[in-house]
Amino acid sequence: RLEIRDIKRSYDGKPVVDNVSLAIQPGHVTCLLGPSGCGKSTTLRIIAGVEMQDSGTIHVDGNLVCDTVFRVPPERRSVGLMFQDFALFPHLSVGENVAFGLKGPGAEKKARARDYLGRVGLEHYIDGFPHELSGGEQQRVALARALAPKPRVMLMDEPFSGLDNRLRDGIRDETLELLKEEGTSVLLVTHEPEEAMRMADEIALMRKGHIVQMGAPYNIYNAPADREAVAFFSDIN
Ligand code: ATP
Ligand code: MG
Repeated sequence: RLEIRDIKRSYDGKPVVDNVSLAIQPGHVTCLLGPSGCGKSTTLRIIAGVEMQDSGTIHVDGNLVCDTVFRVPPERRSVGLMFQDFALFPHLSVGENVAFGLKGPGAEKKARARDYLGRVGLEHYIDGFPHELSGGEQQRVALARALAPKPRVMLMDEPFSGLDNRLRDGIRDETLELLKEEGTSVLLVTHEPEEAMRMADEIALMRKGHIVQMGAPYNIYNAPADREAVAFFSDIN
């Protein structure tokens, strides 16, 4: 379970994330929707711990991971990240990339890496290197790398946007299914209304650093908070 309360962050005195609060139950997906520059990625970076909020608190499974004085480092938050730029380590093999964040004996890590590569259909590349893979394949490896440590919270910033349509639907459904199975709380940023309607248990609309509306996809779709949201959802057939 992820819970963030009253998160604020300003750059040069300009608020970019302004009093954002939300909670995501285990196995649930919240889609964060909003125009470019409204603060979505900044919110995710703060939850991940790669950036610091000015105020507000973050809890994972009831444990405080960050407030203004106390801060658990990113690698110990049980928070996984899947971003647009998914860079793999070029000098590590595909298997080593996936095993990178795992703990335990080498053989066990390799077995887990193989398991997760299998789930994205790339088991046979385990000893290959990133430069030998296509962009879409690299992205699937990055997905396996993000999933393998079984984080309690997964943050996804348009992680499927680089994949071609047919591949994307399969990988996306499978990834979300896996995360649900493991009871992970998922925060997914997307610009695609259909993706949000299909994937989300809850939708949060963000404007200029604020959450302006939050609720079940069906409710948001039927009664969008503003014109921008009306326009956004009108693209769905
Ligand atoms: P997009 O949909 O384009 O990815 P976003 O909602 O993810 O947009 P953010 O990346 O969170 O937007 O950026 C929100 C605002 O904060 C932008 O105006 C951006 O210029 C600003 N910003 C982000 N990071 C920094 C930084 N390190 N220093 C100064 N300003 C920043
Ligand atoms: Mg962004």
